[in-house]
Amino acid sequence: MKLHEYQAKGLFRDCGVSVPDGIVAETVDEAVDAARRLEDENDATLFIVKAQIHAGGRGKGGGVKLAHSVEEVREHADDILGMDLVTHQTGAEGQTVRTILVTEGVDIEQEYYLGVTLDREKSMNAIMVSTEGGVDIETVAEESPEKIQRVWVDPSIGLQPFQARQLAFAMGLEGDAFKQAVSSIRSLYQAFEETDSTLAEINPLVQTPDGEIEAVDAKVNLDDNALFRHPDLEEMRDLHEEDPMEVKAGEHGLSYIKLDGNVGCMVNGAGLAMATMDIIKLAGGEPANFLDVGGAASAETVEAGFRIILEDPNVDAVLLNIFGGIVRCDRVAQGVLEAAKNIDISVPLIVRLQGTNAVEGKRLLDESDLSLRSAVVLKEAADEVTAALGEA
Ligand code: GDP
Ligand code: MN
Repeated sequence: MKLHEYQAKGLFRDCGVSVPDGIVAETVDEAVDAARRLEDENDATLFIVKAQIHAGGRGKGGGVKLAHSVEEVREHADDILGMDLVTHQTGAEGQTVRTILVTEGVDIEQEYYLGVTLDREKSMNAIMVSTEGGVDIETVAEESPEKIQRVWVDPSIGLQPFQARQLAFAMGLEGDAFKQAVSSIRSLYQAFEETDSTLAEINPLVQTPDGEIEAVDAKVNLDDNALFRHPDLEEMRDLHEEDPMEVKAGEHGLSYIKLDGNVGCMVNGAGLAMATMDIIKLAGGEPANFLDVGGAASAETVEAGFRIILEDPNVDAVLLNIFGGIVRCDRVAQGVLEAAKNIDISVPLIVRLQGTNAVEGKRLLDESDLSLRSAVVLKEAADEVTAALGEA
């Protein structure tokens, strides 16, 4: 689960990271009020109006604007609120901006990158810094990897103070800025650990001309599997930012990821789902989705799966591939027949059942008056479904 910048900044601030003051707004009037408050309470003369969407690269896409007056904040808020912001992370249709953050602007002398993530190869958290801040860190990693410095944190002893100092040295800092950077690094690491994040990032972390260190941007990805430990963080979920069909699938306990092809797939088990997608491609088709109905494929989950798959207008045929391990294939076949009573399956459907009671399952389907095709071998099923694409 991803957080918005303003939410991430709140978490970082709570752990002691220095973050410029900011106020969230959902309307132009609220944005103007926010700027007035920053002007009155902080003597702010520079403001930043920032689109809150779950994607980076907002600056380049026109979602981050500097303003030198409250009037200018009004103009930028008016432009940004409601815009479909396109960045390298959103896809061509962009993401509609519903919320903006109005912050006090800071003068930037130098931009740095600071991030924490899990290094799966080393089974340790890695803290990374770079003097190439403000730009896409993936690009830095590719083009000049020597400009990223890392330390790994041994989980049994935690982040050691000398490691934070090592990173601040690598940033080329000295004096008070050095001390502030050490403190920011330790605070960010604390925030990362306390929230069970998979990524906590400040890009850019900036040094002002007065030598102050401030977090101008903030990004947090939470570990979904640890969310049950953080009901307060789960409340920060913004469903507008997530794919509506993926949200709906989650409500039914299904794992659904939309893809670009036209062959709908419904499969039990993530491994089998991957194999099914591979074999569809091998047969010359393109999967329209990844859909794992889980170990227990019941009539309800199968029906919910069909509804979700068929909502995608690109789907021209569906392949249902179930391996009966714990679940029995005849039960799945009954589930398909039940589901077909409630929904209009308007595209060719190929069903491949294998495993426990596969023969009974196939017979149930073959004897029904449903116009589906059943297959035994996965390759045959994949060939059938790609052949059926032309019929839709
Ligand atoms: P992103 O493009 O989505 O990563 O959004 P950022 O929050 O990183 O903002 C993009 C860029 O806007 C930053 O890299 C800075 O160069 C600039 N920016 C953001 N906040 C400030 C600020 O307070 N003062 C100044 N001078 N520039 C800022
Ligand atoms: Mn940024």
